[in-house]
Amino acid sequence: MIYDVSMLIHEDMQVYKNKEEKKPVFVNASNHDNSSAYETILKFNLHTGTHVDYPLHMIKDGKTSDAEVLEKLMGTCKVLDMTACHDAISKSDLIKHEIKENDFLLFKTQNSYSENFIFDFIYLDREGAKYLSDIKVRGVGIDGLGIERNQKDHMTHKYLLEDDIVIIEGLRLANVEAKNYHMTCLPLRIKGVEASPARVILED
Ligand SMILES: [Zn+2]
Repeated sequence: MIYDVSMLIHEDMQVYKNKEEKKPVFVNASNHDNSSAYETILKFNLHTGTHVDYPLHMIKDGKTSDAEVLEKLMGTCKVLDMTACHDAISKSDLIKHEIKENDFLLFKTQNSYSENFIFDFIYLDREGAKYLSDIKVRGVGIDGLGIERNQKDHMTHKYLLEDDIVIIEGLRLANVEAKNYHMTCLPLRIKGVEASPARVILED
């Protein structure tokens, strides 16, 4: 089976904190009434919907989309059931699972069950991030629009990004069971930026 775990991009989609300026804007550039071709201009924040965060997002002079991370984004991933978590995923929630070096973990939480932005969305706390960076996982993905929420100093992002652990945000995991899949995550090839929208497909 093929599971598309990416968020649909449209004008009324959920955006971070429901901020008006973060909503994607679709503008018709030409259509069949005024031209021989139909074209659309789409203006959106790179952290819209499902996307990959690069180190520059939280680290001054950090690596950008120019760094090659495709190798990390293709391969086996483990969807972990974190639907019982309230508030945050912490080390105590992670320790129950067999997590190994080089794993790519996708956290399925209550976030996947809402198409509206949840102000107190489930996130990965700093202890959890430190635990995963010590294990040296290759990446983490979450179904919220952030891997952390209002954390002082953004330590969750920093523990992960400083160790070149890839972060995927904005996944939709309601329809996938917690088990292993083959993941294909393809961020758009944009030069020198801090994030890139991605299509993420799981196969079992
Ligand atoms: Zn982001």
